[in-house]
Amino acid sequence: MKIAADGEAYRILKAEQKRQVEGLELIPSENYVSKAVLEAVGSVLTNKYSEGYPGHRYYGGNFYIDQAENLAIGRAKKLFKTDYHVNVQPYSGSPANIAVMLAVLELGDKVMGMSLTQGGHLTHGHKVNFSGRYYDFCQYGVDRRTEIIDYSEVEKTALKEKPKMIICGATAYPRIINFKAFSKIAEKVKAILMADISHIAGLIAAGVHPTPFGLADIITTTTHKTLRGPRGAVIFCKDRYAEAIDRAVFPGIQGGPHDHVNLAKAVAFGEALKPEFKEYGKQTVKNSQALAAKLIAGGLRLVSGGTDNHLILVDLGSLGVTGKQAEAWLDEAGITVNKNTIPYDERKPMDPSGIRLGTPAVTSRGMKEKEMKIIGEFILRVLASKGQVTELKIIKKEVTSFAKKFPVPGITK
Ligand SMILES: *Cc1c(COP(=O)(O)O)cnc(C)c1O
Repeated sequence: MKIAADGEAYRILKAEQKRQVEGLELIPSENYVSKAVLEAVGSVLTNKYSEGYPGHRYYGGNFYIDQAENLAIGRAKKLFKTDYHVNVQPYSGSPANIAVMLAVLELGDKVMGMSLTQGGHLTHGHKVNFSGRYYDFCQYGVDRRTEIIDYSEVEKTALKEKPKMIICGATAYPRIINFKAFSKIAEKVKAILMADISHIAGLIAAGVHPTPFGLADIITTTTHKTLRGPRGAVIFCKDRYAEAIDRAVFPGIQGGPHDHVNLAKAVAFGEALKPEFKEYGKQTVKNSQALAAKLIAGGLRLVSGGTDNHLILVDLGSLGVTGKQAEAWLDEAGITVNKNTIPYDERKPMDPSGIRLGTPAVTSRGMKEKEMKIIGEFILRVLASKGQVTELKIIKKEVTSFAKKFPVPGITK
């Protein structure tokens, strides 16, 4: 039986497909996967149980599953040009980070991470998250004036707090992360250095952002953001952490791996190993900078004054518009972004002063700098409309006919 036979489910699927084709997807953590990745995710490998690791499983029938997992591992090493140990089983980015903490820390240990309100991730020590509740986190952020990570402040805090582990990596930070500086600080205070490259993994693979390999002891990444693979994650580590990491993932926090997703990871890594992916990474950053330039020319203030990567943080404070309003108005016009706190935000996270946007998904549709200028103009018009319904309807029509000209991987391509 096909999904079309289930009217209720099919209607939802079709409507979401249409939304993805007709809208402009600017959430920087999102992307469009290829048909090949979708096929692997939607494959019969979902039927299998395979607790354990290749060659050491608790279930029979894993001959081909072992091949799939080994393919993903081999390609992951090739992609990041590394001989680090690789575990491809984490279900997603958050479980990967929890597994690292379980592997190398004791409950209550001191850890350092970037605060959520300044660009870090929930799992980097936010007080409502598992990380912040069960470990003793101290947090660093960005400099108030430059809005860039202040490495001398990070060093000062590290010397004072003596963390057992330092986490670098971010979820809303538009600038290059200096992994060398972090590794020097970690060495000085004898801390384990963990780099969470979830957002920028695709840019690192494409060679357009510096790599943490060789510098960080442990590296985690999601596979579904700039890397353009299925929802999931991977952990890389130096050999001395390999056994502890593997045991933390299974049986520490997970049971059977999602073998269909792991095959899809292998497929995505294979795609990222092709020369076209280098071009994709370069274009994603060029597009982000072109969009940033357009927004600045339109009078908007960007956090840190611009971007080095795939994402842009806009401070709407001076416009008298909140992040929540801007997100809702843009949604009405078919443009998807997310509201976001800006560093030292005086507003609450549910209605902050900023919006976060990025170019990974629109770049996957083949858009270039010229199109970014057009998208920038749409955004400026939406903000200027102050939410006026008839104006938003007019913009939505234009957005739809513009977006439909660009094929969507996995849907119309
Ligand atoms: C997205 C992200 C994660 C979490 O990934 P999920 O798959 O949503 O759990 C972890 N760390 C960083 C830095 C991220 O950007």
